[in-house]
Amino acid sequence: MPRIVLASHNTHKLGELQRLFVEARLPVRLVSLADFPEAPAPAETGRSFTENALIKARAAAELTGVAAIADDSGIEVEVLNGMPGVRSARWAGPSGDDQANLELLLDQVSDVPAEQRAARFVCAMAHVSPDGTETVVTGQWPGRLATEPAGTNGFGYDPIFVPDGSQVTSAQLSPEQKNAQSHRARAVAALVDALRATYPTPREEQ
Ligand code: IMP
Repeated sequence: MPRIVLASHNTHKLGELQRLFVEARLPVRLVSLADFPEAPAPAETGRSFTENALIKARAAAELTGVAAIADDSGIEVEVLNGMPGVRSARWAGPSGDDQANLELLLDQVSDVPAEQRAARFVCAMAHVSPDGTETVVTGQWPGRLATEPAGTNGFGYDPIFVPDGSQVTSAQLSPEQKNAQSHRARAVAALVDALRATYPTPREEQ
């Protein structure tokens, strides 16, 4: 089976993606950048999730010589013209403190009425082949900002994000419920579709 390196040291992400690829019967073996300890983390200098995902996937493909996948994600708030966007992880400062980030964001929209609190999580996923062929997809999860945090599941902005069609925050959903509808799940589904031709399922297994 062809190997794909996931441009991340996050073993949780690796396991999740591997499971989704197996379910989709995409015949690839995912390995993580942890198998390439010399790998430097490229600066995420892109102005969009797509650019950042491509920067990370290109760097990993170049370093390892095998195909690479990378993702980049965050939250966009309509009334803030799409911010925090690519700055989601460090919105309140370089330490990347989830609690400080969501408190600052809530403060910034404290006077915004319910009907103007639209927000969405976005995830871009890029696949770069050793021959330089690039594939990028995005997944979006529309919703709105709550007025105060609720729930303890998930991470990041989950306690203040209420998905469309839901009365509770994404931090109040079970991991299974979140994984069934999140921006990341939608991006993975789109990536699997886009990669079918690159990694065809062997005939006898179809
Ligand atoms: P990364 O793409 O894993 O670097 O995530 C960037 C940042 O976006 C995270 O630090 C979170 O603040 C935010 N974020 C991305 N996805 C989610 C999510 O599913 N829930 C909550 N916050 C998220």
